[in-house]
Amino acid sequence: MHELSIAMSIVDLAIEEASKENAKKITEIEIEVGTWAGVDSEALLFSLNVTKQYSDVLKDSEIRLIKREPLMYCSGCNREFTPKVQYTDTCAYCNSAQIELIQGRELALSSLSIQE
Ligand SMILES: [Zn+2]
Repeated sequence: MHELSIAMSIVDLAIEEASKENAKKITEIEIEVGTWAGVDSEALLFSLNVTKQYSDVLKDSEIRLIKREPLMYCSGCNREFTPKVQYTDTCAYCNSAQIELIQGRELALSSLSIQE
C-alpha cells in the first residue's frame, strides 16, 4: 500500500512535467531508489506499471528503477565508504563520528523522456 501511494505521486508528477512540455507521450521514466529509502523496489515497480495504465500519456512508457547503494562521507579523513549496516555511526577508516549519508535514501523521479 505504501508503494502504491508513492507510485501514484510519481505518476502524477510525471504527467504534470509532461504537460508543461506539451508532450503527447512519455516514453521512459527513470526513478532513483536508494537501498535505504524504505521502499520495496519490486512492489514499487509493480505499482507503477499498474498506475500508468490509467494515463494515455504514460501507459506505453518504460519505467526504469535506478538503484542507489548507500554511501557515507567522513569529514574526519575526507573519504567515502560503503556502510555495512544502516545505523553505522563511525567511519570505516578512521573511526571518526563525523560521518553523513550522502547516497542511499533517494526516492525521486530523475529523468523523463517525452515525445512531442
Ligand atoms: Zn574517516
